Amino acid sequence: MHELSVVEELVAKCRRLARGRRVMRVWARCPEGMDTDELVECFDYVVAQLSQAGEGAFEGAGLRLETVPARIRCACGFEGRLVPEDIAGHMGICPGCGRVSELSLPPLELLGLSFAAQATTCGPPA
Ligand SMILES: [Zn+2]
Repeated sequence: MHELSVVEELVAKCRRLARGRRVMRVWARCPEGMDTDELVECFDYVVAQLSQAGEGAFEGAGLRLETVPARIRCACGFEGRLVPEDIAGHMGICPGCGRVSELSLPPLELLGLSFAAQATTCGPPA
């Protein structure tokens, strides 16, 4: 499943950046046409798998997505934005020649991470 593999890639990148810190939020960008609900479900699934494997760095972490207009650059010379009807996953149909090309945006681009604050010793939060 395509969504799962792009989410696994995203989480792998986050793990390298987090270096053991506890991740709270992951922000990422995907082209219009990607199923954002599906991506969030995959993220939750990957995080649950990690927790089961004994890695709790992502426990309770959430994925926040923003979508950007999908674009393609086609061999026929067309370059531009696609309407949602011409997008299927990470592929798009060129309005110029009808050829199917890969979108010129990454399926899932990491924008940022936030980490849990360091534990303090001043007692339970008010
Ligand atoms: Zn074309």
